[in-house]
Amino acid sequence: MRLNLAKLLDRPGESLAFETQADLSDLVFGSCAPADEPVAFKGEIRNTAGVLILNGRLKSTLHCICDRCLKPFEKELDQPVEAVLTTEIQDEEAADAWTFLLDGEEADLDEILDAAFVLNMDSQLLCREDCKGLCSRCGKDLNEGPCGCKKEIDPRLAVLAQLLEK
Ligand SMILES: [Zn+2]
Ligand SMILES: [Zn+2]
Repeated sequence: MRLNLAKLLDRPGESLAFETQADLSDLVFGSCAPADEPVAFKGEIRNTAGVLILNGRLKSTLHCICDRCLKPFEKELDQPVEAVLTTEIQDEEAADAWTFLLDGEEADLDEILDAAFVLNMDSQLLCREDCKGLCSRCGKDLNEGPCGCKKEIDPRLAVLAQLLEK
């Protein structure tokens, strides 16, 4: 969605509410495309002393697959978004990922939504922080208890054991 900000430009103190949503079901993270439900983006843009500041939230229910144990799980997305909208980037150095250029008097909310979603996604999707994952030998889900596999023996200890046997 594109939002016309003519009302806000050069008018400190003015604000404009917005509400939109996007289909991000094509975005693949790890072994899943978690945003199979629409992602809602709601908030307002305010002219704060001449600077346009966007404050909003992304909301959705994500459907992920755990990177460690491969179990599907759901995760509520409720993420704050703060961005600066500007008509020109004067200082490339100072502009970061959260500074967006207006197209004339319009803000491209989809561009901001996409960037906020991707930048805030966890680098690893885990069903829970301390997921134990699967045993690399037998494939058992170690969250359900230990498997019968023997622990890897340090090869140096194996040599020592041989020496002791002699
Ligand atoms: Zn897991
Ligand atoms: Zn095992």
